[in-house]
Amino acid sequence: MPDSAPYTRAMPPARVVAVAPGSPAASTGILPGDEVLSLNGEAVRDVIRYQLQADEPVVEVEVRRGGLEQLVTVEKPAGAPLGVELDSPVFDRVQTCDNHCPFCFIHQLPKGMRRSLYLKDDDYRLSFLYGNFTTLTRFTEADLERVIGERLSPLYVSIHATDPDVRAQLLRNRRGATSLRWLAALLDAGVEVHGQIVVCPGINDGAVLDDTLLGILDRFPRLQTVGVVPLGVSAHTHEPDMRQHTAAEATAVLETVASWQARFQRALGRRLVFAADEYYVLAPRPFPQPAEYEGFPQHENGIGMVRAFEADVQAALRGERAAGMGPRAGFFAWVDGAPPDGYRAPRTGSRPTPASPSARRVAIVTGEYGERVLDPLLPLLRDLAGVPVRLVPVPNRFFGGNIAVTGLLTGRDVCEVLATEPAGDRYLVPDVVLSRDRFLDGTTVADLPRTVEVVPTDGASLVAALR
Ligand code: SF4
Repeated sequence: MPDSAPYTRAMPPARVVAVAPGSPAASTGILPGDEVLSLNGEAVRDVIRYQLQADEPVVEVEVRRGGLEQLVTVEKPAGAPLGVELDSPVFDRVQTCDNHCPFCFIHQLPKGMRRSLYLKDDDYRLSFLYGNFTTLTRFTEADLERVIGERLSPLYVSIHATDPDVRAQLLRNRRGATSLRWLAALLDAGVEVHGQIVVCPGINDGAVLDDTLLGILDRFPRLQTVGVVPLGVSAHTHEPDMRQHTAAEATAVLETVASWQARFQRALGRRLVFAADEYYVLAPRPFPQPAEYEGFPQHENGIGMVRAFEADVQAALRGERAAGMGPRAGFFAWVDGAPPDGYRAPRTGSRPTPASPSARRVAIVTGEYGERVLDPLLPLLRDLAGVPVRLVPVPNRFFGGNIAVTGLLTGRDVCEVLATEPAGDRYLVPDVVLSRDRFLDGTTVADLPRTVEVVPTDGASLVAALR
């Protein structure tokens, strides 16, 4: 449904999938399975409108149950959540992507995963809600009006190249050549926008990357940040030109970013462009100092995650309050619906469980990149725990290729590794591998051959679990 559509009863209803016990919604008898037709008379189209209405102290909820419609009045403090979990963050229809990027990770998923994972979105609402990147190729004047009118900021925009022909080629969509005009309009209207460049070696690195960063300085200097990230190549790609970076190519990207950071600093007083942690691992080069990330604004996109994690661990060890920065939303977070505490709530219901008193050694389950992050911290963590602490890196066989981030581990791969590990140890698993307590392949921690404790994916939580 186009975003210019009026808010009418023709809007598809939102379906309630869970009601938080003791919540205002529970006290008024709203039940899982109910359909929400309107809030305060508005047939809301997505959780953004839903939240605006649900924040009111008195909310008239029109629900349909078994074909019968009824009006329920919920009274609560202004701003308190209703406590209703909905089946999707977008009720009308997710704006799907009409690009065909050769580096698209969704095109590289193996067959047989949950259907919702194969849906390619290019929806500015999911950009606002979950930090998904949008190419703006399907953005409209009505969307611009809504973003500005409802202050949907920040947004996240895929840039990849500022040269129109190269961008159209990368997106395999001729509108890719012109859609960055919307980026200019958003920035002119004062919307905060973060950009991303997915670098494909031999295509938009080298002189093209240089030209893109020049284009950003020239046309989009109001961008808050731009993340430069390497493409992911799974074993399931059908694109012969898509390949991993060599160490020399990763080094060249880091050098380009460093030289542009210096130029942006001279011109704008800030670095603006940042390279993904993965590049420092690939090159290999030491990670920048924490201050060089200027507050870690693209932390959730794998930029500065290592330094933020270290800083968290060290702050927690000193007894200071850590920032607790961890990846809150996984790559596919939005497909699992809108949680009851609001769309910015954590994506997993798991909580750390107490350690078994008989457990002596601790094993931290992680991806292959996670291993490189955690390995230098092991002596500190061992001192803290007072028992042997080791890492259990899990190679990503499910996706294969160069996919090594912890957030894309599947239960199947974790099972295979844990089956060879000794019983009786404490196994800590970071919650970034789970969405609603499920791995990407649909398995759960109950399917694992060892009992594990799920720990929020940040340094402070890991320190707390070890203490
Ligand atoms: S815009 Fe994103 S979802 Fe669409 S094809 Fe490109 S990478 Fe895939």
